Amino acid sequence: MKMKINNLKKTVFSSLKITHNSAKNIQRGEATSLMIEGLLFKKGEITRAHKEMIKESYKDTTMKSYQTRIRDRAEVPRDPLEFQKAITRILRGQKNNETKNFFLEQMLRILPSKNKLFKMNLLGPRLSEISHHAATNSCIQCNVLSDSSHQVAYCIFPTYSIYALNNLAIWKEKLPGLTLNPLNLEFHTDIFNIQDASLKHQTDLILLNIKKQGFDLWKDPLFYRLSPRRIHVILLRSLKNLLELTKGTSKSRRSFWWIESILEALIQEEDALTEFYRIKFDHL
Ligand SMILES: [Zn+2]
Repeated sequence: MKMKINNLKKTVFSSLKITHNSAKNIQRGEATSLMIEGLLFKKGEITRAHKEMIKESYKDTTMKSYQTRIRDRAEVPRDPLEFQKAITRILRGQKNNETKNFFLEQMLRILPSKNKLFKMNLLGPRLSEISHHAATNSCIQCNVLSDSSHQVAYCIFPTYSIYALNNLAIWKEKLPGLTLNPLNLEFHTDIFNIQDASLKHQTDLILLNIKKQGFDLWKDPLFYRLSPRRIHVILLRSLKNLLELTKGTSKSRRSFWWIESILEALIQEEDALTEFYRIKFDHL
């Protein structure tokens, strides 16, 4: 069993070009690749999903994680091809390995979500000191199962982020046909249709960043009392980080102008966006 996992790890790492050195270079010190953690899980499901992902033939089959979503009556793109196109597009795109890993694990539903950690008995006793709800598998804000889909696309942070982006004048002007909804955010559907490659790439990055931020937010000790203002600041901070990272990779304004414009618009519109926004806990 251990041999199998080690072999699988090697294959996945080499296909994603992760070496010991590149893992060390990922920010926040240690090797934080979610996939590395994922591979150490003992659940059969996870290794199956990884195997499925690295098989060349997956392009022509409907992936299991997609079928499971349909079985669970979760919202998914109606056409399985949309789902596979999104994976292929992100895999081929110029994104760093951490971002690619995150997207793959999110699409394959193998992210270590709160629900998953709970099932594996990995929610530490520290959490129960914060609130007795915190040590369960449900979201303490929305009172529903806190699975990866909820965390990345349906919880209060992604909901607010969708609302904020949809209301920016610059968003409406540049992407008139794209009113964001949780399905776009989760699967990047409709982003295919953006003609300008640079605009498409940066929109992908913005959505990925919002999902990553939302995914991690439940671990924030203040999660149970986030106000719209605080959520807005978290959104600004995460896009600011994205902007710095993107600028670090390329000095050409063409590669970050859209992220920068969105960030500037969000800063200017803070009052208008947050003043009357009420966090609704019944948005499901
Ligand atoms: Zn929630």
